[in-house]
Amino acid sequence: MPISSPLTLVVNCGSSSLKFALFDPAEPAALISGLAECLDAPDARIRFDADGERITTQLDGGGHRQALDALLAFVGARGLLERIAAVGHRVVHGGERFTRSVEITPEVLQDIEACSALAPLHNPANLIGIRAAIAALPQARQVAVFDTAFHQTMPREAYLYALPQQYRRELGVRRYGFHGTSHRYVAGRAIEQLELDPQDNGLVILHLGNGASATAIRNGVSVDTSMGLTPVEGLVMGTRSGDVDAGALLYIARRAGLDLDGVDALVNKKSGLLGLSELSNDCRTLEAAAAEGHEGAQAALEVFTYRIAKTVGALATALPRLDAVVFTGGIGENSATVRAAVLKRLAIFGLDVDEERNRVTRGGATGVVSRSHKPSALVVPTDEEGTIARDTAAIAFGGAAASSEMEAA
Ligand code: ADP
Repeated sequence: MPISSPLTLVVNCGSSSLKFALFDPAEPAALISGLAECLDAPDARIRFDADGERITTQLDGGGHRQALDALLAFVGARGLLERIAAVGHRVVHGGERFTRSVEITPEVLQDIEACSALAPLHNPANLIGIRAAIAALPQARQVAVFDTAFHQTMPREAYLYALPQQYRRELGVRRYGFHGTSHRYVAGRAIEQLELDPQDNGLVILHLGNGASATAIRNGVSVDTSMGLTPVEGLVMGTRSGDVDAGALLYIARRAGLDLDGVDALVNKKSGLLGLSELSNDCRTLEAAAAEGHEGAQAALEVFTYRIAKTVGALATALPRLDAVVFTGGIGENSATVRAAVLKRLAIFGLDVDEERNRVTRGGATGVVSRSHKPSALVVPTDEEGTIARDTAAIAFGGAAASSEMEAA
């Protein structure tokens, strides 16, 4: 490999975490990847996965900037620092302004800041990462890849709320959707894998992780999705409620004396699988407990899987035809139990489960898990970091493959 071959660093800043991966565009797997967590807390630490080894270092209360410095020192010690020519940043909210990935200019930075009101926990953390990367790697081109951008193709009927439109005009209140990078990548792989006509297909992608969302995709384009203005809408999640009668929240707030922060914590942190099970937000823990007879865990998994199936039914109305339901995310990629429960509810579409294939498809495997064909059920492991790296490389260095993927979006 020539010493000058340019590398792409992917940075994904959460409110107290920083995920990263360093890619050589010529190689599919990351050279270095890892995660800094508990940032700005006493046990802040950073973990590196490189050359088959895992190394963890304490950051002594450090924040995003310290995590990035530790990452760059680690990369520098391997002689790779000068080769980083582009940095791709995951940005959660791009509002209506960003319909695709873009190079970060001072104007783009301002616009991302303007979207912060729509994602007050996420965009400010993303901006810290962007500013730290600009300061530490001034020679590199910086690219923003938005969670919302892929869904900007939704038609008006899918993105409007039946609220006074004054709030859309003045505050940007409408449905945006999230997990767009994952839905876009997984849809592209599913179309290839199932050899569907790229100009004539209908898919529902189920991204099921701690956060969960479902998207109806027509010919590679998002036409409706389950998340809305914020990631609270839609499916039941680890700790988020998903869809709930707004009247129920008003009732709880009045009766239990919750203020707005209390309602925020209720729907974001205390609900979902955790609230239902009164045990855990983690699907693996719930599956184990349910198998031993824990009623809360059983109820949580029933509601979770029923709502997923119900959402597939609703999203199918946005498609001319349902060719496939595609599972991804930590739960979608690994839980045969959740997939089987969802597919059994979808018999009305002609879907079923191939028990054996469903059981063995896990841990990064791709494959069809139904006996039915058109629609079929497929598992495709997501690759958000790789997709951000390809978008970034396409914008920073050019590159036909990555550009065409972006065009498809
Ligand atoms: P995030 O949204 O934080 O990226 P992930 O996509 O990593 O989350 O998904 C985390 C979820 O995946 C957890 O609920 C975890 O229990 C679940 N999960 C991971 N492996 C398995 C498994 N083998 N069986 C069931 N659930 C699993």
